[in-house]
Amino acid sequence: WKKSFLTAATLVSAVALGACGDSEATTGDAGYVGIAMPTKSAERWIADGTNMVTELEKLGYKTDLQYGEDKVENQVAQIENMITKGVDVLVIASIDGSALTDVLGKAADEGIEVIAYDRLLMNSEHVDYYATFDNFGVGVLQASYIEDALNLSEGEGPYNIELFGGSPDDNNALINYNGVMSVFQQYIESGQLVIPSEQTKFNQIATLRWDGSTAQARMDNLLSANYTDKTLDAVLSPYDPISLGIISSLKGVGYGSAEKPLPVITGQDGTQAGVKSIIAGEQTQTIFKDTRILAQNTIEMIEAIFNEEEVPVNDTETYDNGVKVVPTYLANPVSVDKENYQAELIDTEYYSEKDLGL
Ligand code: BGC
Repeated sequence: WKKSFLTAATLVSAVALGACGDSEATTGDAGYVGIAMPTKSAERWIADGTNMVTELEKLGYKTDLQYGEDKVENQVAQIENMITKGVDVLVIASIDGSALTDVLGKAADEGIEVIAYDRLLMNSEHVDYYATFDNFGVGVLQASYIEDALNLSEGEGPYNIELFGGSPDDNNALINYNGVMSVFQQYIESGQLVIPSEQTKFNQIATLRWDGSTAQARMDNLLSANYTDKTLDAVLSPYDPISLGIISSLKGVGYGSAEKPLPVITGQDGTQAGVKSIIAGEQTQTIFKDTRILAQNTIEMIEAIFNEEEVPVNDTETYDNGVKVVPTYLANPVSVDKENYQAELIDTEYYSEKDLGL
């Protein structure tokens, strides 16, 4: 796991969750930036969009922010519309990373620079830069949390675990999984981690569109098929809403009591519901990805593009989209649990105490 680094990433204004609709602003003449986001159903993308628009407008850019609501055809139409309107730069967090090849070709024909935001745009040469978090590191942090919680490096076990993955059309999900397996492989081989379902391959554990109820239904099936005479000790979950679906399923068969505690359960995104669950002692951990920092890093790229300066990147080797290695700026994900949520989420003003029901 290559450690990434951040250069003076100034924190931008507080996250206004939920306050943002699709918007077309008309301020400023510094340039015109189209921002295509995947869905408003996840908190983080609302925060990402809000942060980008607020900061770009402060700098005098005109923006067009659109959400595809997890429908690929919506996102394609929205990007086509942005191209027609004459944006100079496109910032795209894709729904399906491989589904935008044609529209990216159209953007290139118009001389529009394209930044892949958080999720890599696959199978296209028309992707200029990539701003994201260390996605392999996310998986390493999740798996290392379980490694520590179960004292695996001290030789303890065997423990029963099940693995869940993110969406198969999101390159991040596969990279997260590779990070997870880089930690778990040795413990699966030594027999310290046992996977009663035997479902370990990415395509067996993936969850289309990162959907919590899909994961809940899979957990129901895993429990009835494999755990009538066994106890589940840990679940590698890739995303808070998936973790919450898994927890509902587990509670349905009696986990969550003094005699039958919930397993160790990871997550991702530090969503309000996820962090509340951590505070309540149900979900165990999450990965905090400070969307203010990602927005700031992306804006530094946009400024450099408009000023014809060198675009800041810190990884030029890792993110191969199938056609080219895309120059990337990686930000650091942070592991958060009951011990450090105050310092990481409240003291940094990402959330107020009220947001977390405190
Ligand atoms: C992002 C995660 C997010 C997930 C679901 C991934 O591409 O990297 O932060 O939890 O999508 O929206």
